[in-house]
Amino acid sequence: MKCEVAVIGGGVIGLSCAWRLAQRGIKVLLLERGELAREASWTAGGMIAPGCELLHHPGDEDLAMSRFCFHSRDLYADFATELFDFTGINVELSLAGVKSTFIDWRTPGILLLGEKNQTLEWSSKTEYFDVSTLPYLSPQTHQRPALWLPDEGQVDNRKLTLALAQAARQSGVQIWEDAPVRNIVCENEKISHIESAAGKVHAEKVLLCAGAWSGQIGGIPESCKPPIRPVAGQMLALRPGAKIDRVIYVKPDTYLIPRRDGRLVLGSSVEETGFQKITTTEHAERKWRDAVEVIPALQDSEIVEHWCGFRPTAPDGLPIMGKSEIENLYIATGHHRNGILMTPATAELITEHLIHNAPIDTAFSPLRFAETAISVMSS
Ligand SMILES: Cc1cc2nc3c(=O)[nH]c(=O)nc-3n(C[C@H](O)[C@H](O)[C@H](O)COP(=O)(O)OP(=O)(O)OC[C@H]3O[C@@H](n4cnc5c(N)ncnc54)[C@H](O)[C@@H]3O)c2cc1C
Repeated sequence: MKCEVAVIGGGVIGLSCAWRLAQRGIKVLLLERGELAREASWTAGGMIAPGCELLHHPGDEDLAMSRFCFHSRDLYADFATELFDFTGINVELSLAGVKSTFIDWRTPGILLLGEKNQTLEWSSKTEYFDVSTLPYLSPQTHQRPALWLPDEGQVDNRKLTLALAQAARQSGVQIWEDAPVRNIVCENEKISHIESAAGKVHAEKVLLCAGAWSGQIGGIPESCKPPIRPVAGQMLALRPGAKIDRVIYVKPDTYLIPRRDGRLVLGSSVEETGFQKITTTEHAERKWRDAVEVIPALQDSEIVEHWCGFRPTAPDGLPIMGKSEIENLYIATGHHRNGILMTPATAELITEHLIHNAPIDTAFSPLRFAETAISVMSS
């Protein structure tokens, strides 16, 4: 099989890049190890929350990562509309400024609760919020500081994966499922071909988007392998008795996300357990208790799903995007806990990079780890 670009991995990052490349007339083959998008992209919460994340890293407003996250948030309304117009799939984006297709009973925006004596300050667009105006919140929350972030929100990430897969197919991307890439064969510092369970592929360029497994593909020289590790997260879905009308961000490992169908997604642990997909009763009980503390009416809610996924994570927590030391190997991974948020901007950036060699901020460079190793050795 011959193609111009072979994309390894069919999560939101691989699918969105493949779609955008195909829209530009590139012949793309996407190889997915199992079924499309059943890993991090399926298991995520789907929050679009650059400001909430920033609040836990104050002073980072000007850093490349924050700028990229806010830029991606700003692309979301048009991205979702384009997907809907092209595929008919509604990704249930709940975000200010969306078209009427996406407006439903939920209030776009995120309510961020602080700790009891915490001072919540943030220079960008936030408003102080009177928690007592939401009758479903517990009286204890009235003593906590709260901010309202009107420009943040959520997307149904599972629907997003379905829409991206369909958009990619409709645009001419050839998709091979059950086709794990086993080996990349390099000759003269260039990939000559890749070997997958479904056959050999000759591609002019290879784009590695294998999520938490991006460092595990055979044949890539050690120095070029992205140093990605899995950071596991357990999630729950409840069927609440009461209608919770907005996303509530309690702390980085506790947030409540109401889906349009009435389910309430409750996230998420942060666990360094390697590639072990574990769900524990202890976690479910703890998260459920945390949620009941904020919303007492959840006391009678039923747990309808409990799952676990792996955030693809680099040592510095930033994405790894751009050309590697191997001439025709490109990388787009390491989106850690914000890959759903960063999908539109990643697809835009990677497409321009592959086609026009558009620059990518050095903060995201695949070469930054080699450089660190060299400077540590020489100091
Ligand atoms: C619990 C949890 C909650 C999260 N919540 C949020 C959130 O609220 N907001 C947000 O923005 N982000 C969130 N994230 C992060 C987000 O889910 C990820 O950053 C994003 O989905 C990464 O997408 P990906 O395409 O890189 O990886 P994945 O979705 O994991 O896709 C990688 C794909 O590569 C395939 N693959 C692996 N090896 C091979 C191979 N050898 N050959 C072929 N294919 C291969 C895998 O099967 C998989 O389908 C969350 C993540 C987790 C785990």
